[in-house]
Parts: sequence; C-alpha cells; structure tokens
Amino acid sequence: MTVRCYLGLGSNQADPQGQLSQALDRLAGTPGLHNLRCSRFYGSKAVGPGEQADYVNAVASVDTLLSPLALLDTLQQIENLHGRVRDVRWGPRTLDLDLLLYGEQTINTARLVVPHPRLAQRAFVLVPLAELAPDLTLPDGTCLSGLLDYASAEDLWLLQ
Ligand code: ATP
Ligand code: CA
Ligand code: CA
Repeated sequence: MTVRCYLGLGSNQADPQGQLSQALDRLAGTPGLHNLRCSRFYGSKAVGPGEQADYVNAVASVDTLLSPLALLDTLQQIENLHGRVRDVRWGPRTLDLDLLLYGEQTINTARLVVPHPRLAQRAFVLVPLAELAPDLTLPDGTCLSGLLDYASAEDLWLLQ
C-alpha cells in the first residue's frame, strides 16, 4: 500500500526555478516514488537571518512505498546532489526539500518531525499545498482551508 506524501521545495540560489525543475525530475526518476504532481511555482520573501535573495517555492505530492526515514534520506541525497551546504540555520540554499506530510502519520523523532512543525504558519507552503489538495485535513484534524484563512500571502507571488 502506498502512502500519499507532500513535499515542500525551496531554493534561493543558483537559478532557483531550474533547481526546482531538476529536483522534480530527480524525484520522478526515483524508484519507489509514484504519481508525482507539483503545484505552480511561487516567489516568496526570505524569512531567515540577514539579507537573502527571494525564494522560489512549490509543493509536490507523491505516492510512496518508502518508509518516512527512507524518504527523508532520498530527499537529503537530492539536496546534496544540488550542492546543498548545511551551515547557517535558515540560511540561503540551492535546494531545500522538506517532508511536509506522510499520509496521516504523526512522527516525532530526532531526525524527522511530521507534519512539518512550521507548515501551518507558512503561506509559501499552504498556498501551493492547497492547489494539490484543497480539502486536505492534517492528522490532528485541522483543515487546510482554515489555516489558509489566517495565512498572510502578502510576501508570496505566483511565478508561472
Ligand atoms: P525548516 O525546518 O524551518 O523548514 P530548514 O528546512 O532550513 O528549516 P534544514 O536545515 O533543511 O532545515 O533541516 C534540518 C534538519 O531537520 C534535517 O537534518 C532533518 O533531519 C530535520 N527534519 C526534521 N523534520 C523534518 C521534515 N519533516 N522534513 C525535512 N527535514 C526534517
Ligand atoms: Ca525548510
Ligand atoms: Ca529542510
């Protein structure tokens, strides 16, 4: 039985739209991942430390037989292929792939927390997520549409 998962994609370095497109190609070519779909691409203002370039963000859905940790490994391997350097927290990055949701599961381990703990506060996640799954409900029963009512999309714009 596959599990439907949602992934957050982000980049603000070295041709961000190209980074996301290439990451989607890699995800589509990964064994164990099926039915990849992606939202449109959005621009967003960086929220991390210091002056940072704007981000490109999108959300993808995928059906998988991989375990949550195996999926996280896959995402981190793809980040590494894109030259992701892990230094400053929330610093600039060529590619960020977050596991937003893994079916209805709640996971709380040192390496992996699902649903992604900051999902509900981020318009750059909620808005593209709603393109793929407008009627989505989080494992705790929260409706995505309710979260969207409170999300401020003023620093978010559609790119394509
Ligand atoms: P944020 O989590 O606020 O979006 P970030 O994406 O910049 O910040 P990273 O530096 O990419 O954070 O990740 C730090 C660590 O977070 C990773 O090494 C990973 O083990 C852990 N992590 C925990 N939960 C998740 C998740 N749901 N998706 C991706 N990484 C996660
Ligand atoms: Ca992130
Ligand atoms: Ca991340």
